[in-house]
Amino acid sequence: MRILVVEDESRLAELLRQALHEEGHSVTVALDGTNGLALAQSGEFDVILLDVLLPGTDGFTVVRRLRAEKNRTPILLLTARDSAKDIVEGLNLGADDYLTKPFSFDVLFARIRAVSRRGPIPQPAHLRTLDLSLDPGTREVRRGSRTLSLTRTEFAILELLMRHAGRVLPRDRVIESVWGHGADIESNTLDAFMRLLRSKIELPGESKLLQTVRGIGYALRAE
Ligand code: CA
Repeated sequence: MRILVVEDESRLAELLRQALHEEGHSVTVALDGTNGLALAQSGEFDVILLDVLLPGTDGFTVVRRLRAEKNRTPILLLTARDSAKDIVEGLNLGADDYLTKPFSFDVLFARIRAVSRRGPIPQPAHLRTLDLSLDPGTREVRRGSRTLSLTRTEFAILELLMRHAGRVLPRDRVIESVWGHGADIESNTLDAFMRLLRSKIELPGESKLLQTVRGIGYALRAE
């Protein structure tokens, strides 16, 4: 894959470049957000690894700009921050996933595979649960008459839940399906994604669809 690494810590950037190169990837490194954004805008990458705290243009701004320009390249945020607020902000802006530093290369490689797998994949038919519909082909999601804007990860979670509507999916099953087998996902990460997804599919006044089954997992169904 063609991977863009945007990381201002030059030692870490070089380690990433070497490790990804040894995995068979073609790697381009940008040492600040401004150059990173310009390179990302070329659209010639399969995955972008993006540090959050960068001189010049910060990582969140890069995500916001790319998504505003309809650039849908999968973005994996690399962050030294570990507060739920930052995680939610990054994901809400349209990043696909995040890793908290320090991380192991094995975990990084697995996450790269997971976010890239969620790219263009041949898709079967339209899914529907009550007034919620999802078209895997066009990636359009609608609730009643409104169109929902979901990130890649939110879409993957919702598609999984809709394919098994009415059944409780254990947390491990969701994580394995969305992030890949053996993925090292913290439980608050899944919870953060579920909160974001719920806030998008259930506006005030709409019936509840996404249910948390405490201690087990999640289910999509009408109350
Ligand atoms: Ca940094």
